[in-house]
Amino acid sequence: MSATACVDAVAAILDLPFDELLFRAQTVHREHHDPTVMQLSTLLSIKTGGCPEDCRYCPQSSRYQTGVEDEPLVPLETVVAAARQAQANGASRFCMGAAWRGPQPQDLPRVLDMIAAVHNLGLETCCSLGLLQDGQAQQLRAAGLDYYNHNLDTAAERYGEIVATHDYQDRLDTLARVRRAGLRVCCGGIVGMGENRRVRAGLIAQLASLDPQPDSVPINYLVQVPGTPLSGTEPLDWLEFVRTIAAARITMPKSMVRLSAGRQRMPDEVQALCFLAGANSIFYGEKLLTTGNADVEHDKALLARLGLRTA
Ligand code: SF4
Repeated sequence: MSATACVDAVAAILDLPFDELLFRAQTVHREHHDPTVMQLSTLLSIKTGGCPEDCRYCPQSSRYQTGVEDEPLVPLETVVAAARQAQANGASRFCMGAAWRGPQPQDLPRVLDMIAAVHNLGLETCCSLGLLQDGQAQQLRAAGLDYYNHNLDTAAERYGEIVATHDYQDRLDTLARVRRAGLRVCCGGIVGMGENRRVRAGLIAQLASLDPQPDSVPINYLVQVPGTPLSGTEPLDWLEFVRTIAAARITMPKSMVRLSAGRQRMPDEVQALCFLAGANSIFYGEKLLTTGNADVEHDKALLARLGLRTA
């Protein structure tokens, strides 16, 4: 089914009475996953700030005054130390993000070394490096990369309002390169950017229409950083966020649905509802690129309160 054809179907899911929606999501979740297990991923920024792109939500764009300090590519030892720490804290996947339009040929060898080193620790590896050119995905795979993260951010029809320096097709092209190289795909989006429910349906429909569907689907709740154009946007109702998680679970039954940015300010009870709605992965660790994340000890306590095991 095309993305356009199924926007109506996703919109109908999002419009369900809340309890009905959660029941359906939980039913699908139990058919495909152990509902008592939570997957933990840890994210490290390996190159911060100074990005030439203009994503209107992003504090790392050089176009906005957000106080984020530009930092060059970090040394290999820093990555290995962070990965060891993440592993000791129970993470099974280590994600490395760089604020670039895409990796330059001179930077790639150092990133490949980082991937190989994390892979050798026995962790699953993920990178988020922006747009990829022909051949780069194969190089990443050969170094030991398991997953590539590249989000669609929002529905196609709204993309131009969020980013002007590249377009939706650029992102789809990178996702196709990632798949062709045999990498697993981590692809999600951001809600709370002032979009309406129809746009959220469009995002979920687009993600669900990727063939095959993404292995991991991070759903981010916009963290409003002062200085970015989207700072000051009317915050999204938490229950609407839970609805979005449920729609992702119903339409992408086998994917890992990850609670990502925005968890630091998300009440525990909302997170519990998200888990009930089918989220089964969280970003875990004190920082998410440049914005804060939920405290590790708090997360451990929350998972214990909910009787969730980690994987
Ligand atoms: S989201 Fe990525 S590509 Fe866009 S400005 Fe931020 S770092 Fe650059």
